[in-house]
Amino acid sequence: MASHELKTPLTSLNALLQVASLKLKNSEDPFLAGAMEKSNIQVKRMTAMINGFLNISRLESGKIYIEKQNFDMEALIKDMISEASLTASTHLMHFVQCPPIPVNADRDKIGSVISNLINNAVKYSPKGKNIEIACKTKDNQLVVSIKDEGMGIKRDDLTKIFDRYYRVQTNNTQHIAGFGIGLYLSAEIIHRHGGEIWAESESGVGSIFYFSLPLETIWAV
Ligand code: ADP
Repeated sequence: MASHELKTPLTSLNALLQVASLKLKNSEDPFLAGAMEKSNIQVKRMTAMINGFLNISRLESGKIYIEKQNFDMEALIKDMISEASLTASTHLMHFVQCPPIPVNADRDKIGSVISNLINNAVKYSPKGKNIEIACKTKDNQLVVSIKDEGMGIKRDDLTKIFDRYYRVQTNNTQHIAGFGIGLYLSAEIIHRHGGEIWAESESGVGSIFYFSLPLETIWAV
């Protein structure tokens, strides 16, 4: 209920900021245009957090439905990269091509998984580092991977990061905002498609997050 109520003022704020942003684009005061752009980014972040909580409550009351459609994975990944680039111009994002495969899955929900993994790669790695998003087929699965050159995750934590509300507690992570729900929701979405989600990581070197979708789902006609 609270999450839902928070969305109404946020929607108005978003609309007002969009208009103000347009009006101030050509302002003589460069601070104003910059401030509007930053405010837009913060509103987007807050909206994503509130949506996360709404999705948790939907999930727990059995109200998350998988609505499958055929779509092109490469186009979806590209959309998610451009969206993430709007709020994270600080990292270099590289995309390695996908095989031209029509995917049969819930496009919006798979999009939210990709966006969550890209945003985490940005959040947990220093500015100026590379993020590589790749896609391939292996053993009747389509596997998407998101690789970063960030702080990495210790072996003990790797098994827990997909748990609800779990966050790694270190000096490096304590100033990074989050609630520990993104990976939990992503795992639920992938499992409901019959796929898997996992990570490989080395502390101080970086992490690779993977998710797979079974080809039976993908090739469905
Ligand atoms: P949040 O980022 O909001 O805390 P997530 O569920 O997305 O929530 O991630 C859970 C935890 O896993 C994070 O708090 C962080 O400790 C760790 N984590 C996730 N992605 C990465 C990454 N790419 N590199 C290092 N740690 C990560």
